[in-house]
Amino acid sequence: MPPRRSSAAEPQRTCVQCRALLAKPRLLRIAGKPGAGWTPDPSGILPGRGIYLCRGGDCIRRFSARVRTAKGGARWKMGAAGAELAERLSAFEQGAGKT
Ligand SMILES: [Zn+2]
Repeated sequence: MPPRRSSAAEPQRTCVQCRALLAKPRLLRIAGKPGAGWTPDPSGILPGRGIYLCRGGDCIRRFSARVRTAKGGARWKMGAAGAELAERLSAFEQGAGKT
């Protein structure tokens, strides 16, 4: 039997900011792990844990604002890496948001 190519078979992930369940290509993955730093991973290939955010709308910006603070970053045990990630995300948005 040939594999089905229905979009319903696409892996889905939940945006950690707005809790929307979306197909992975519609989300931006952030890869990393506690203590090792976090980085935007638009190709979805980096090792480590993944945090997913909607690519459109305000989720990336709102998430950045959260992890910039120690309290917001504590949710993912980011510590100082949260502020670093926020910088990387705003650089990513400036590069990607040109549509
Ligand atoms: Zn979202």
